[in-house]
Amino acid sequence: MIKMACPIIGDEERLLINSVLDSRMLASGKYVLEFEKAFAKFSGTRFGIANTNGTTSLHIALLMAGVMPNDKVVTTPFSFIATVNSILFCQAKPVFVDIDPKTFNINPIELEKILEKEKNVKAVLIVHLYGLPCDMGAILELKKKYKFRLIEDACQAHGAEYKNKKVGSFGDVAAFSFYATKNMTTGEGGIVLTNSSKANKYGRQIINHGRNNCSIHTILGYNYRLTNFAAAIGIAQLRQLENWIIKRIKNAAIYNEAFCNLSFLQVPFIPNNCKHVFHQYTIKILAKNRKKFIMYLTKNGIETGIYYNSVVYKQQFYKKFGYKFNTCKVAENISKKVISIPVHPSLSMLDIEKIIDVIIKYNKK
Ligand SMILES: *Cc1c(COP(=O)(O)O)cnc(C)c1O
Repeated sequence: MIKMACPIIGDEERLLINSVLDSRMLASGKYVLEFEKAFAKFSGTRFGIANTNGTTSLHIALLMAGVMPNDKVVTTPFSFIATVNSILFCQAKPVFVDIDPKTFNINPIELEKILEKEKNVKAVLIVHLYGLPCDMGAILELKKKYKFRLIEDACQAHGAEYKNKKVGSFGDVAAFSFYATKNMTTGEGGIVLTNSSKANKYGRQIINHGRNNCSIHTILGYNYRLTNFAAAIGIAQLRQLENWIIKRIKNAAIYNEAFCNLSFLQVPFIPNNCKHVFHQYTIKILAKNRKKFIMYLTKNGIETGIYYNSVVYKQQFYKKFGYKFNTCKVAENISKKVISIPVHPSLSMLDIEKIIDVIIKYNKK
């Protein structure tokens, strides 16, 4: 089976893990600080706060952005459920905005309609889905006009760029995940980025029981700290990230060229000013053909994934909130058509050739 994800672990990870064991600093430690500095520098922000995972990163990011109970937070329903759950962690209210049918990211035109209609939107939580940056030009214009806090869910987009600027550096705060299947991993792990020293201080308290520099507990905090082990792996992974991104982009380009003339599928769209880092390579096919196509790929030894099979507000847990069906027509429609195929850097040229061969043959049946 050609898998959807396969983390790459090298000698450097092993070496650094051993040095953590030898140091006896098993909880927090020097690698955590080193990793925070390195990842913030890589992404072009002043501060990084390493923490337990991408979901906690989102929770921390929203708190750092000042999201309070009953605040309205606009976001996309076409994302991993954790994006929206993080709004509920703050007892705030998710307001859903539809996506662009080409990029699958938040549609700025729809976003402006909502900002006009809804009063007092506190924050907008954007998601750079599959590794493709949102339309940051338009979104930053809206931020100037409507003065909301901007939070980036960059959990799938480490190293992605809009006009040569890395995602995670556009918003007031940004959240990343280092889960095992992401473009780089620490097993479980996450980081929050910001340029604000005030938000940075607040975030550091949030992840450490609300404790400030003088060991006084001034706010409600959590234990969201990252371990020294995880940070050690992160340091080694970050050194490889750019190479892995190059491979993902190359694999995606080979697919795009091989598939662009197939009439039964649509390849991913890449806007000119964007560096798409292909956390997922996601094609669109007719909804009625999807199940059969997936079964055909599985039978031929190719794993696939559906991200995401449903918009968040149609998930069972969200039904009680009473969001209307058709709230986001484009997102609902696309969730029935997407399929992701393996694109990760562990794929061999043979794997890629096999995947292309199998998919092209499907067309001929
Ligand atoms: C992975 C992911 C998360 C959650 O990250 P975890 O580390 O699994 O908690 C949140 N949002 C998006 C878009 C993700 O892909």
